[in-house]
Amino acid sequence: APVKELSLSQAKSEIGPLREKLIKWGKEYYEQDNPSVEDYVYDRAYQRLVELEEQFPQLKTADSPTQKVGGTAESQLTKVRHEIPMLSMGDVFSIEELMDFNQRQQENRDVKVEPEYNLELKIDGLSLSLVYEDGQLVQGSTRGNGTIGEDVTANVRTIKSVPEKLPEPLSIEVRGECYMPKEAFAKLNAKRETEGLPIFANPRNAAAGSLRQLDPKVTAQRELDTFMYYVPEYQKLGVKTQADALEKMRELGFNVNPNNRVVHNRTEIEQYIAEYTAQRDQLTYGIDGIVEKVNDLDTEVALGNTVKVPRWEIAYKFPPEEQATIVRDIEWTV
Ligand code: NAD
Repeated sequence: APVKELSLSQAKSEIGPLREKLIKWGKEYYEQDNPSVEDYVYDRAYQRLVELEEQFPQLKTADSPTQKVGGTAESQLTKVRHEIPMLSMGDVFSIEELMDFNQRQQENRDVKVEPEYNLELKIDGLSLSLVYEDGQLVQGSTRGNGTIGEDVTANVRTIKSVPEKLPEPLSIEVRGECYMPKEAFAKLNAKRETEGLPIFANPRNAAAGSLRQLDPKVTAQRELDTFMYYVPEYQKLGVKTQADALEKMRELGFNVNPNNRVVHNRTEIEQYIAEYTAQRDQLTYGIDGIVEKVNDLDTEVALGNTVKVPRWEIAYKFPPEEQATIVRDIEWTV
């Protein structure tokens, strides 16, 4: 039933089991790299929880998946603290919702937001943080629960596209996505099948399982790659926009996805989404949507974050491939 038609007690009896289910799926996905349901199933259940909590704020809890980033870092890997939290990202499932998001951003009374956005592909991997001191790689870590992540430095050093040394003696953190190219994923699963090992559900889980290894020799065999896209302390790069930050990261030797585009209006945004929805299958890596970021970095800082997501970026998620029509027309109209 639509959330608006529920009584408090009906909502209460739905919300408990729903939250439990999402917590269980979250553990399987973030901690065990082994999801039991497709992403769109998780996303739909999550959306339902968001709506229930909006309609019945008295049923909100601090441990709700809507208030937390990712999973807890429970593996045997050493833990690291992220001084600047690594957050999740809000998402929308249609152009209309994206335009509503932009409209609300424009109406922000405290921050003047110029409608200039940098659009990027949303790489389907896992977040990676790289820390450099005087230009030397000193730490690689996963997002974990956003505050506490896992130390994967030795593993990261086996990834060819991660520079060990920068051409400038910068002390910076660079964030991005670690992913497994489609071909490497197909090869890995084929090999695992012949060896009688369980196969990975998708490239994202294969990348996560491969990066979060106790033995870097295993990671080294997994053909992981990276696309870096974020420097929290961008002032250190002397740049003012996200598009320039990407360019500077490229100059520093990072792998940066070449498909970003600066846009200013709905037509340009629709055009970009249409292009990459069509090209998606031809790319050698998986993407699950596009990311829209306010291009001016000082404005990003002024907009800040909620407990879980930045206010300056949003993901437009592609409809799931096989289910596209059904889900878009029937189930996502709520
Ligand atoms: P998310 O992964 O959807 O989005 C946030 C992440 O996007 C960032 O942390 C970053 O790593 C990544 N990203 C990729 N390209 C980027 C770019 N160009 N710029 C900035 N960031 C970029 O959010 P989340 O909260 O980590 O996870 C939610 C996702 O995980 C949903 O897609 C959900 O379906 C899936 N999930 C699935 C299950 C399941 O059981 N199948 C369970 C939990 C979560």
